[in-house]
Amino acid sequence: MSATAAGRAAVPFEDAVRRYEPVIGLETHVELGTASKMFCGCPVTFGAAPNSAVCPVCLGLPGSLPVINRAAIEYTIRIGLALNCTIASWCRFARKNYFYPDMQKNYQISQYDEPLCTDGWLEVEAGGRRWRVGIERVHLEEDTGKSLHVGGVTGRIHGADYSLVDYNRAGIPLVEVVTRPIAGAGALAPAVARAYVTELRDLMRSLGVSDVRMDQGSLRCDVNTSVAPAGAPWGTRTETKNVNSLRSVERAVRYEIERQAGVLDAGSRVIQETRHFHEDTGMTTPGRSKEEAQDYRYFPEPDLVPVAPPPEWIAEIRAALPELPAARRARLQALWGLPDADMAALRNAGALDLMERTVAAGAPPGQARNWWLAELARRANEAGTDLTALPVTPEQVARVIELVASGALTHRLARQVIDGVLAGEGSPDEVVAARGLAVVGGQAALAAAVDEAIAANPDVAAKVREGKLAAAGVLVGAVMRATGGRADAARARDLILERLAG
Ligand SMILES: [Zn+2]
Repeated sequence: MSATAAGRAAVPFEDAVRRYEPVIGLETHVELGTASKMFCGCPVTFGAAPNSAVCPVCLGLPGSLPVINRAAIEYTIRIGLALNCTIASWCRFARKNYFYPDMQKNYQISQYDEPLCTDGWLEVEAGGRRWRVGIERVHLEEDTGKSLHVGGVTGRIHGADYSLVDYNRAGIPLVEVVTRPIAGAGALAPAVARAYVTELRDLMRSLGVSDVRMDQGSLRCDVNTSVAPAGAPWGTRTETKNVNSLRSVERAVRYEIERQAGVLDAGSRVIQETRHFHEDTGMTTPGRSKEEAQDYRYFPEPDLVPVAPPPEWIAEIRAALPELPAARRARLQALWGLPDADMAALRNAGALDLMERTVAAGAPPGQARNWWLAELARRANEAGTDLTALPVTPEQVARVIELVASGALTHRLARQVIDGVLAGEGSPDEVVAARGLAVVGGQAALAAAVDEAIAANPDVAAKVREGKLAAAGVLVGAVMRATGGRADAARARDLILERLAG
């Protein structure tokens, strides 16, 4: 039952954030892209035949014993260091006890009070300013299996005829990154939440620890939201589970702020619970009421030795960290000399790599920016696709820019060349040749067209000779007509003035 159905109308967002202060927090699960699972040798796969990547350990059969995957520890330390965390010199795994059909051991091996990484931060940009999001902890656990509920309308267990379980995912190493509460963002809270998950995704990708595909579930986000009147103690939070796109993260926070403001306006209490986000309506609905830590009866996992990464190993991992996304953006911005707004636009369009390759292929940054953010962004928009999905390579864009710079193409012709490339007619040079788009550039051909235009317009030519230079425009027009628009107008004008000088 939604808040609206219960008779409490959600408050319009602007009104809600004017009267209530939101506090958000994010718990992000990232499946690590290690070759094998967390505690056994089964491969980490996606989309394989159900229950084809399992063994006694990840099926939790009696008598099987887990062994810690060293690569998963290394990946987690890499993540912790990139998030400015302290790495524990000694920590243990814990059993988190609960029953669920996709959790066949009846406990999950996780970390509880001894996480591998603690107390870091990640800087993100939202609303034209930077926010330092505190990271409380980064811990390592095993993923659960996956249930498939068949026969119902919603795909949920309620109304289903039967359920199937696939344990291929069970035991895949899963890192959980937990933020500290983010307060003070006000109306920007939804944007900050989105910016954080975006930055975290880019960071994970640059570290090479995960493919961070939200659509395939390798990055999953739980969003905590509470609201309280300004100046009052923080309100009761809800946890919206498994939000699976960046846009949904923003929408889920926004909706919870509106909904909880409505609950408080009606004089009711916000219930501490997990909630589900619905992509189609943009609303959340109640799930189960939230368990407390004591409900899980955590205790140290007796089948595993403690993890004690030597300082030299941590130093080695730190030294091998790649350039991180924020540093890369700063470097590229300085290199390209572009303003913040352009960098933000390029990043939002996912076009930083495209820009970098275009410039590497020899294009001046300003022109590369114009092509990607104006001309090609418009075409991507028209085609309903992303810039990265357009069938044109950065090298081809650089070649078109080069042809314009050399005078072989005008801007108008260059746009037609890009049309040809996008239509699959080949490389820019092939399109120029096939469509006959080259500027009438041979000096002789242009000169012939100029002479013809002068001969055909003796009155105009006389005016230009008398010094009425504006009249030359008529002759340029004649040259452009005669060449089917393929002449460079500026060069034609220069030549006309040269011919008629003195
Ligand atoms: Zn296994």
